[in-house]
Amino acid sequence: STTFVSEMLEEVADRFSFQLQQRKIQIVIRVENGVTNLLLDRDKIDQVLDNLVSNAIKYTGDEGAIRLEARKIEKDMLEISVQDNGIGIPKKDLTRIFERFYRVDKARSRNMGGTGLGLSIAREIVKAHGGTIQLESELGQGTRVIFTLPIQQEEEDEL
Ligand code: ATP
Ligand code: MG
Repeated sequence: STTFVSEMLEEVADRFSFQLQQRKIQIVIRVENGVTNLLLDRDKIDQVLDNLVSNAIKYTGDEGAIRLEARKIEKDMLEISVQDNGIGIPKKDLTRIFERFYRVDKARSRNMGGTGLGLSIAREIVKAHGGTIQLESELGQGTRVIFTLPIQQEEEDEL
């Protein structure tokens, strides 16, 4: 059904508010003007967002920052990105990061919990909806995951 994109992003942040407060991680949400209500498979997109935000929290130090952004790009696509300023991912692991059960260096993941499925599930969902997902990362600097979704139908603007 129809979803307000800014509401959707605020609600992801709300679901993680306890962890965010505990870790003193800031979350910034930015929705480009003109991105309002869209027809989205809300349950599935929430699953993608939860996966990405949980990673951003897990792999970011205390007092880090997470940025959630949504904007329209060419050909009626919505682009959503989740960016953190955490530990980052080594170059050599970047090509395998979306594989099922793939985790970067067991030592650093051991204490974090998880199975290595989050990103592969996120990719399956995004692909099933006709979008793409990619990840950019700089070791020690942070990570940004960007996914796109086709804009199926736009409701009339409220104005
Ligand atoms: P699960 O999602 O099943 O709980 P997971 O988080 O380890 O477990 P994925 O979400 O698939 O699995 O991520 C795979 C690996 O990619 C992680 O183990 C981690 O090493 C690395 N990774 C994912 N997101 C980030 C991030 N934002 N910053 C740094 N490393 C990341
Ligand atoms: Mg994960």
